[in-house]
Amino acid sequence: MSKTFEMLRPYLDKSMALQTARSLFEWDDQTTAPFEAAKYTSRVVGILSDEYMKSLINDDVRQIMNKLMEDKEQAELTDTEKAIIKELNKTFEQLESIPPEEYRAFNELAPVANRVWTKAKKDNKYEDFAPYLKEILEYKKKFAGYRVKDNKDPYEILLADYEECFGIKELDIFFEKIKKEIIPLLAKVSAKADAVDKSYNSLKYDIDKQREFCKFLCGYVGFDFNRGVIAESAHPFTMQLHNHDVRITDRYIEDNLESAMFSIIHETGHALYEMNIEDSLTQTPVGGGTSMGMHEAQSRFFENIIGRSKAFWEPIYDKLVGAYPDNLTNITLDHFIKGINKPASSLIRTEADELSYPLHIIIRYETEKMMFMEDADIEKLPEVWNQKYKDYMGISPKDDASGILQDTHWSWGEFGYFPSYAIGSAIASQLYYKMLEVMPLEQYLQEGNLTPIREFLRDSIHKYGATKNTNQLLMEVTGEEFNADYYIKYLKEKYEKLYDIV
Ligand code: ZN
Repeated sequence: MSKTFEMLRPYLDKSMALQTARSLFEWDDQTTAPFEAAKYTSRVVGILSDEYMKSLINDDVRQIMNKLMEDKEQAELTDTEKAIIKELNKTFEQLESIPPEEYRAFNELAPVANRVWTKAKKDNKYEDFAPYLKEILEYKKKFAGYRVKDNKDPYEILLADYEECFGIKELDIFFEKIKKEIIPLLAKVSAKADAVDKSYNSLKYDIDKQREFCKFLCGYVGFDFNRGVIAESAHPFTMQLHNHDVRITDRYIEDNLESAMFSIIHETGHALYEMNIEDSLTQTPVGGGTSMGMHEAQSRFFENIIGRSKAFWEPIYDKLVGAYPDNLTNITLDHFIKGINKPASSLIRTEADELSYPLHIIIRYETEKMMFMEDADIEKLPEVWNQKYKDYMGISPKDDASGILQDTHWSWGEFGYFPSYAIGSAIASQLYYKMLEVMPLEQYLQEGNLTPIREFLRDSIHKYGATKNTNQLLMEVTGEEFNADYYIKYLKEKYEKLYDIV
């Protein structure tokens, strides 16, 4: 163990403690804190955030880091220590490259832009948000510009913040493949799926019973209630304090059976990742999932590939029917499976089905590229957006609220974030085909035995935390780097079989 690295520990521990406290306030704010608390509690969070920054970005830490960069020191570091230093360097680079007054100005602007966006969406007035979007975009271009190397585009830098293994070139290839294969498939499937009657899904489903069944599902998939809790919030999410305290939320809607069920399976996928990270890594800078894309791969694997399969429901469908006999007695398992996999070209990304989902992401990615690389006219973005929905999905938003204003990300300056959702689905498919090679996956699901599936993910992905990146992990477990072909193969095989398409 490196002596110099040991000098870092107290700083790492302090920043971890401050970060944990901040997370706990964020959790509280979104689950149980009273409505009036936010304004006053935000002062506490502001002070904690400042202290967190100071605990890492200071001369003492910088000196230790510089020393650790020397060859002699590098030779003494363990792989985990090297990974921690790499993470720290990333944080340093992000925070130190921006002049403090610009950083502060941006942080003051973002919450205002978000409030303006919320109101503009409600009033359906894109023109109110456009000037703020322009300003936020200019800041992000400038900030990313400070870190640009080798003539890359600033957008490339932002993409790498969420998933370091994918740049514009890789994403262009990935998304072109999807467009070519999925747009025609979606049209064929939609024509057949129209006949599936899904009215059962919007009958009344008692909220208490939903809570109870979702808790069952969560445990069935593998959530450890000794190391995690479920609460309720406006939008489901996962938050980990460390690997022994992983919290998830759900939202229950009386006239929507599927919403809470698939949300809880999704969040359980995120939670399993965090719970399975090794004890030696948790509470360090590499003690979380390795990237947004890999995290979404875990949640989408359980939600879609496992959770929407017939084999998964075979052992437990009777239990679901038993919870709501009046609504479901006449719905056969086959009918239910077609129902939960019915594509419905929706204008709203968060309500999209598995098949049309990547098209929503492509539209956002292409629009962001135009904003960064082609200086697109921000006032005219709704036209660009609507045209793309028409071209790719055959539908046009009736207004900006259900069009360009639907997502919160841009108001916070989160450009480059969207692609990781689609990357996640594609990674999940690549892992799925590997599992098919090494285990009788379908049989395990039919037996209600998810343990080997969880163990496979734990041993090949989860336990490493952020010590290896996405492509390293994929290479080790599947023998190749990211390959989008598996995603297309998965969607084609699944939907062609389900809807008898030849
Ligand atoms: Zn997620």
